[in-house]
Amino acid sequence: MAVEQTLVLIKPDGLVKSLTGNIITVLSETELKIVGAKIVQVTRELAEEHYQHLREEKFFNELINYIMGEYHTKRIMALVYHGENAIKKIRRIVGATNPEEADPISIRGKYGRITSTGIYENAVHASENAKEAEREIKLWFRPDELVHTIYPVESAVTEKQTFFWKETKTWKPGKKSDA
Ligand code: GDP
Ligand code: MG
Repeated sequence: MAVEQTLVLIKPDGLVKSLTGNIITVLSETELKIVGAKIVQVTRELAEEHYQHLREEKFFNELINYIMGEYHTKRIMALVYHGENAIKKIRRIVGATNPEEADPISIRGKYGRITSTGIYENAVHASENAKEAEREIKLWFRPDELVHTIYPVESAVTEKQTFFWKETKTWKPGKKSDA
C-alpha cells in the first residue's frame, strides 16, 4: 500500500450549514493526518481549472457558481490528508457523487441534497485517483503551505508583494531581530 496525499474540499454548502466540524470528525475515522488546511475564496479561474474535466457537461456553469459560493457563502475549506491508501479511504467515507444514491451513512448521504433546480449539493470534494490528487493538491496548495510533501519541491527567490501585521512585534521574514 502506498503512502498518498489527497485533496478534500468542504464545499460552500458544508460551510454555510456549519458542517466543517462534523465532516472533519467523520474523516478522522480514517486515522490519516491532516498536513494542510485553509479557507479559500474560490475564483472563477480556480473553479474552472479544478473542474476542467467537466467543461462539456450541461451542469458545468451551475457547478462553477456552486463551488464559487454564489448560492451559499464565498468560502470553502481545503484540506490535504496524508497516509496509507489515503485516496480510497477518504472517497469511501465521502460516498457517491449523487447524494441521493450515496450510502446514507457516508458524508454525502448524510449531508448532501439535490436542489429543486437539480444542483448536486454534496458538501465535500475528494480526489478520485493518484493522478487527480497530485494535480489538485498542486492546484490548491503551495508546497510551503503543507507540513509534509510527497512530490518534489524546488524554491526560488521572487519579488512578491507580502503583507505583514501593522505595528506589531511579530516575526517578519528577512528581519533578524524581533525580540
Ligand atoms: P465526484 O468526484 O464524486 O465529486 O464527481 P465528479 O468529478 O464526476 O463531479 C464533480 C462534481 O460535479 C460533483 O461532486 C457534483 O457536485 C457535480 N456533479 C457531478 N455530476 C453531476 C450531475 O449529474 N448533475 C449535477 N447537477 N452535478 C453533478
Ligand atoms: Mg471528481
